[in-house]
Amino acid sequence: MGRVGFVYDPRYLGHEMGRSHPESPARLQSICAQLQSSRTWSRLFQLTPRPAERQWIELIHDSSYVDSLERRSPADGYAALDPDTSMSPGTLDAAYLATGGALVAVDAIMKEVIDHAFCAVRPPGHHAEADRAMGFCFLNTVAIAARYIQQQHGVERVLIVDWDVHHGNGTQHAFYNDASVLFFSTHQFPYYPGTGRATETGEGEGKGFTINVPFSGGEDDDVYQEVFRKILVPAADAFQPEFVLISAGFDAHRDDPLASMNVTAQGYAELTNIVAYIAKCYSGGRILACLEGGYHLQALAESVDHHLLALLDS
Ligand SMILES: [Zn+2]
Repeated sequence: MGRVGFVYDPRYLGHEMGRSHPESPARLQSICAQLQSSRTWSRLFQLTPRPAERQWIELIHDSSYVDSLERRSPADGYAALDPDTSMSPGTLDAAYLATGGALVAVDAIMKEVIDHAFCAVRPPGHHAEADRAMGFCFLNTVAIAARYIQQQHGVERVLIVDWDVHHGNGTQHAFYNDASVLFFSTHQFPYYPGTGRATETGEGEGKGFTINVPFSGGEDDDVYQEVFRKILVPAADAFQPEFVLISAGFDAHRDDPLASMNVTAQGYAELTNIVAYIAKCYSGGRILACLEGGYHLQALAESVDHHLLALLDS
């Protein structure tokens, strides 16, 4: 049985981008309500986030970009950074705490207080580039966590599994020339943000350490599992990751309003089992998952619950 940490903070609800925006505080409220009613909550080890320090954020993001977030943070109303990404007065605190929550979880895993962790955080991160916010994302939490794992904890090889239905462009770009981070992504294509072709495999020393599996739409649990077994597992066998991160978006769910995949809540449990098998083989079981997308409130909550139950059982 795995000991599973859970990162949450009510200040994550303080970031909002307008009443009709799909990336809403209600997403986390729905997750917490589901976990409490299903009794999964009582099995989780609660972790309190800290704000991420600039020294770690700047391993991925330009200092001038972080300065610009500070400068543009509004005292009231909204500050638009791209057509679908804006800051409210609570955004900056939430973003620092989202990334810091992942760092706290990394520390707890490395100290062996817990085996795995799930960060129920907002805003998400995998679209955030070194120098700009985009796609509802401001700070690339998973990318920052990967560098933190390496530099703070002396871990060499990190696997990032990104099963969000959108391609994790920011994460891919952060490690495109880097053989120490294996980035594996399944996503709808062509679709937002436009990157993620199968031919994008890394450059220089990083050649072969980016694996993109684009899907045309409608792929179901069976297709996802086959891809994870036939592509991800052999790649992980060759790479032998010492730590596994998951960019855990749940917007490939069949009910999700933003995409057209056919994954079920139980399907996410099966994918979790495959990733847990990899972690058990090579990483001492160490898995940290961070919430990315997922916009159907009930489907999101049930998917997170199934994901956590699989982590608890592994
Ligand atoms: Zn997404």
